[in-house]
Amino acid sequence: MYISVALDGPAGAGKSTIAKRAAKELDYIYVDTGALYRTIGLAASRKGVEPVASKEVNNLLDEIKVDLTFNENGDQAVLLNGEDVSGLIRTPEASMMASKISAIPSVRAYLLDLQRNMAKTHNVIMDGRDIGTVVLPNAQIKIFLTASPEARATRRYKELCEKGMDVKYEDILQDVITRDYNDSHRETAPLKPADDSILVDTTELDFEQSVQKIISIIKENI
Ligand code: C5P
Repeated sequence: MYISVALDGPAGAGKSTIAKRAAKELDYIYVDTGALYRTIGLAASRKGVEPVASKEVNNLLDEIKVDLTFNENGDQAVLLNGEDVSGLIRTPEASMMASKISAIPSVRAYLLDLQRNMAKTHNVIMDGRDIGTVVLPNAQIKIFLTASPEARATRRYKELCEKGMDVKYEDILQDVITRDYNDSHRETAPLKPADDSILVDTTELDFEQSVQKIISIIKENI
């Protein structure tokens, strides 16, 4: 039987970097489900489909194929009709597009099997918004990782600056607040901690401390 760790929480809480490291140490696969929503957002941008127009989005879903692959180091790549778009989906525009399109129920349904199949065939740490509540309600371990909006905006700001992007802190903070609102107020699978999740607040923790905290929770609970 495979172990599933559901790791949910708002944008910028450090889920991806923390989970990636924890997964390496535990020899689990790290699955970044946000990349899937971003990929559908990218497909919509390319086709000029409004992310709120359900009918057009449904037609788009019929035309596209989204796949996840993992290399020998366990690093994930996401494919849109066979094209590796892992780099292209990491922009503030793609974040916002993903946040909007992820509110459409058919988009969430479209990605459900893909996510569940990963957990059927691997030990996973799966990072998202609704993993513990909807995608893997029977996950053995559920963690809800959060931090203050300011701490999350500061981390994302530094990350984007390091990539050489010309961004403003105020814009990033506003982005975080808007995405939090969108994610937690949508009707389908809103962002909220599962009843049986363990809450971890990383506002006052550095990266290493956060990783060790997650690893110890996983080890204590398997
Ligand atoms: O995690 P990341 O920031 O890459 O996710 C991009 C967007 O995809 C989020 O703002 C959220 O709206 C959406 N998402 C979601 N459910 C998930 C993962 C991501 O709705 N499981």
